[in-house]
Formats: sequence, structure tokens, C-alpha cells
Amino acid sequence: MFENLSERLSGVFDKLTKQGALSEDDVKTALREVRVALLEADVSLPVARDFVKAVADKATGQNVTKSITPGQQVVKIVHDELKHVLAGDDDTPGELKIDSPPAPILMVGLQGSGKTTTTGKLAKRLKEKNNKRVLMASLDVNRPAAMEQLAILGAQIGVDTLPIVKGEKPVDIAKRAKQQATLGGYDVYMLDTAGRLQIDEVLMQEVEDVRDIVKPRETLLVVDGLTGQVAVEVAEEFDGKIGISGVVLTRMDGDGRGGAALSMRAVTGKPIKFVGLGEKMDALETFEPDRIAGRILGMGDIVALVEKAQETIEAEQAEKMMKRFQKGQFNMNDLKNQLEQMLKMGGMEGLMGMMPGMKKMAGQAKEAGMDDKMLKQQIALIQSMTKRERANPQLLQASRKKRIAKGAGMEVSDLNKLLKMQRQMGDMMKKMGKGGMLKQAMKGMF
Ligand code: GDP
Repeated sequence: MFENLSERLSGVFDKLTKQGALSEDDVKTALREVRVALLEADVSLPVARDFVKAVADKATGQNVTKSITPGQQVVKIVHDELKHVLAGDDDTPGELKIDSPPAPILMVGLQGSGKTTTTGKLAKRLKEKNNKRVLMASLDVNRPAAMEQLAILGAQIGVDTLPIVKGEKPVDIAKRAKQQATLGGYDVYMLDTAGRLQIDEVLMQEVEDVRDIVKPRETLLVVDGLTGQVAVEVAEEFDGKIGISGVVLTRMDGDGRGGAALSMRAVTGKPIKFVGLGEKMDALETFEPDRIAGRILGMGDIVALVEKAQETIEAEQAEKMMKRFQKGQFNMNDLKNQLEQMLKMGGMEGLMGMMPGMKKMAGQAKEAGMDDKMLKQQIALIQSMTKRERANPQLLQASRKKRIAKGAGMEVSDLNKLLKMQRQMGDMMKKMGKGGMLKQAMKGMF
């Protein structure tokens, strides 16, 4: 589905990964080609620009992991960025809010986008994979053929359709579908709204009226993936007027340029939930950013290699750190690491709750005011120390203490508490190290 784009990108990176050392110019040239490849795939200009910038920033800031080439590392960065652009921050691919039956799903989109076909595909999926009882209804009163098309699909996949009543208005069909879904004990009812060749006021008003009546749990926009940036514009417009919860990109089996997938999330902020991959009723896939990024880049082996190398390095670092802890070496950098880790994992409570026997202590720590705010203050204190001081906290005499506390906007007494904590944690690590508990505890942390 992304043949052209992945061919171009693989070409760029093949050159890059074959070389050993990599200069800044190599990366620049490669990224310029990435940008052209993205634009050729009909990715919108701002998205392509941001993409290349993000990769450049990450590529310059990162140390090259041992045992892989810098070129391979850049491939991994591009892969991760592709994934990020496709997914945003909070993606749950393919998941639909269809609890509380009967859950209404509103299908919207332009005529010919594949809306009716997708309604059928999704109904089949919900029935077979999610075990849902589904009712489908066509609201396309202008095209009796469209209503019949849905009825035929329904019969084919074994999903009920609302009987067609001639002359009924879309809102009335929607009301009848809701009633039927409730009375008939359906889990989900899907409304296949009318499409037009272009967005027009009458169409939007009609969809809005239906939306207000059924209050859909999901409003899925079906767009033709082959239309590139136009698909993204259509999505923006539908979202502005109707409010969509997700997108289904159809015809991704074609040799389209695939740019719509990359721009969609970045431009509209709405997730792609599914992709259509053919005319058959089972040609629908959930949209998995990781997998799609892999397909676009076509360099899965390298990505896996880099991930493995990074994991190995992390494990080596953790091992080294553990050895130091066992010897009783626990400095302020270590403490800072721990504090930051605690913040990431939901504060003191989160961390201690994970360690055996420490749940109770977590409660006590909370009572003693060990909350996120305090963690941040402690990190600020450590940041106010010089490199040497962090590595050797025993250097901290009165004048240094004053300077550090002042730098963090805190009192010397706060710093003294921190120093005590560092000593106590150091002792604890040493003790735990002897009993083998440290390894256990650290497993959860790295
Ligand atoms: P609607 O007017 O939006 O309801 O569009 P239809 O569902 O009638 O689809 C229009 C045409 O596109 C039909 O011939 C479908 O078989 C075809 N179609 C829909 N989805 C896909 C897809 O993902 N891939 C391909 N190749 N064809 C599709």
C-alpha cells in the first residue's frame, strides 16, 4: 500500500546503512531525500517539514548505540517518528466505544468513498471478532440502490438490516433504527448515511440532525486513501461540522501514494481506526501504527536490530549500576535517576507498591509529604549541584550546601534531608544487593 514511498525511503537508507561512519552531511542529504519522498507520497508540506525536523533533532542529540552503525540508528529514529506521526500519543488502534447497548455508530463520508462497503465490513468484524449483535440501516433515501446494496451485504454476511420503508426521511429512519435496536436487543446499530459527490450544506445538515437524534458513540468518517491530501481536507471539514471520532481509510490496497495516512493524524488530530484493503467483506484491518510504520519504511530488520542493541546496552548499564550499588556506591546521580523513575511511575506510591513488602511504607511516605511536588524539589536540589558534587556528595560542606539550596530555591535543612535519604538508600541498596533482592527490585525499574 505504500510501495512508492517505501521504495524511495529504502533507497535513501540503503546508502546510509552501508557506510560505516556517518557525517552530518550524510544525514542532511538523506533527510532532504526523505522530505522529497514524503511530498511525492502526497504528505502535506507542514507535516513533512515537521517530520524531517523531528528526525534531525533526534539524530543529532543521540549517542550511537554500540554495535550498530549510525545509519542504522537513523533508520530506527525515522521508524519511531513515522510511528509517532501515525499514532499521536494516545492511540488505541481499532478500538471502538461500543459498550452500553445499543451503541450507535454513525458512518459518514462522500459518495464513492467506500462507506457502504466499510459499514458491511465493520459489521462483520463486530459480529465475528467482538461477538456483537449488529443492526445496519441505510439512510441514503436519494439512492434506493444504495439502500438495497446494504440489504444485500447484510444478507451476505449474516447481519440484520432495518427493513426499507419507502418515502421515509433520514431522521425517521434513524429513530426507527434506534427503536428497533433497543427492542431487538442489539449491541450495536450502524447508520450508513447518505453521501454526496462533494460536501454540501444539505448533506451536512442531514447528518447533523441524525447525529443529534442518535448521539453516536462513534462517528467514523470513511475516506478514499487514494485521494491523498484531499482525504485530509475532507476529514477536516467533516470534523469541523459533525465532529468525528475516527477515520477509516479505504483503498489502501491500491498503489496510492499513502500520504493521507501520514498527514491524517497530524492535521486532524483524529485517529485512523481501520484501513480498507479490498472489495471483499473481510478486507478490513485495524490500523496498527507500528506495523504501518514498518511497512512504509520497509526496513523491519534494521529496526529490530537496533531495538535489540539498545536493550542490550540498557541491560549492561543496569548491571553496572547494580554492581556499584552492591559495593555501597550510591551517589546523587543515582538518587536523581531513582527520583525521576519514581515520578514517571506514578510517584512514591506507584514505585513502592511494586516492590514486595513496601506497600505500607508507601502509605507512610505519603503521609510524611513524600509526594510528586517533593520529588520535583529534590530533583531540583540535585540539579543545583555541580557534576563533582553529584558524584561525591561527601564534598558538601556548609558553604556549598547554602549555594545549592539557594540555587533550588530551598532551605539547607531540605538539602540535609536529601543527603540523609541518599545515605539511607545507599545502605539499603547494599543490603538488598547481598540478599539478591536488588536484582528483583531493579527488574521492575528498567
Ligand atoms: P459509498 O458510495 O461510499 O457507499 O461506496 P461503496 O461502498 O459503494 O464503494 C464504492 C466502490 O469502492 C465499490 O466498488 C467497493 O467495492 C469499492 N471499495 C470500497 N472499499 C474498498 C477498498 O478498501 N479497496 C478497494 N480496492 N475497493 C474498495
